[in-house]
Amino acid sequence: MKIKQSIDINTIVNSLIGKFCLENVDQWNSQIRALSKAITFVENDPLLAPKLLAHPNLSTNATMQARIIGITGLPGAGKSTLTNLIVKELRKLGKKVAIFAVDPSSSLTGGAILGDRVRMHEHFRDPHVFIRSMGSRGALGGVARATRSAIRLASVLNFDYILVETVGIGQSESEITSLADSTVLVLMPNSGDEIQLMKSGILQLANIYVVNKCDLADSSRMIQELMENTAPNEENQWHPPVLKTSAAKNEGISELVNSFFQHEEYEKNSHIGQELRTLRLRNEVLQNILILAEEVFREKVKQINDVEIEKLSLGKTTAMSIASELFQKEIK
Ligand code: GDP
Repeated sequence: MKIKQSIDINTIVNSLIGKFCLENVDQWNSQIRALSKAITFVENDPLLAPKLLAHPNLSTNATMQARIIGITGLPGAGKSTLTNLIVKELRKLGKKVAIFAVDPSSSLTGGAILGDRVRMHEHFRDPHVFIRSMGSRGALGGVARATRSAIRLASVLNFDYILVETVGIGQSESEITSLADSTVLVLMPNSGDEIQLMKSGILQLANIYVVNKCDLADSSRMIQELMENTAPNEENQWHPPVLKTSAAKNEGISELVNSFFQHEEYEKNSHIGQELRTLRLRNEVLQNILILAEEVFREKVKQINDVEIEKLSLGKTTAMSIASELFQKEIK
């Protein structure tokens, strides 16, 4: 079994790193298939990710050039519809785009709803658009972890933009925020969303605000409130734009895509922008350390003797104290 896995990893790495060439669509298609396969592997077995991503051939090829855009907001705000139009706009500009639709609830729904949500059918035939739905499969921290690995695998194929669409408000949102270069928060006018979002803290984390469905209701009050609540602080000079869109009428999309470019420019040219990027990269290393640590400690935990577990069950010790002892021993 182990031998088969290592053969698969080498085959996948080799199929991923073939030189991308516009004329050679066949080769690109086979790279895309390799990417799909690799993502399935890391989704099913998160511990395969380090083996795949730390492969010496991949690490020298992963260029990290792709700009990662997180698109988040409450269900029904219009994220999927907007994402579809964003992809259209980016394709008009000749950009290669990968889209990850992340649904933390799909362990409950079996991913069926997610499949419907991805309104991307018209892009399925475009070889320069890669679309993938990702569910959590019930694993703790699974969404962010598998998505993170999937993004890095996609980066190997030199996509210009990687869009990560997430549903709902919760832990996965802040995880996605820490992963994305720009986070877009999609809201609906007069929905009372702001209050819920204020509580979740995401309102402070987004770099770009979109008030969608402007064809349905007057959005001026909401836009005003958002502008007041998202003013830049002393260190951060980026003033998050508050944009009006109607995905239904295809309005405001090019302004939205322009705001991606502006935010990227800002990050490149400002001290705080650079710092934020450094912070995200450090965080990514930390997340990878946690993946590796889990692999090591999963084994160590199996070796804890029954006497110790009995003490734990009787309340004579704590799980933290056992953990701390194991950890100290291991890092010495
Ligand atoms: P998501 O759950 O945030 O991904 O939202 P969807 O993209 O699935 O959109 C939810 C519903 O709102 C769908 O029926 C869309 O057709 C509709 N919708 C999305 N954007 C707009 C818009 O700008 N105006 C109107 N009137 N409807 C929209």
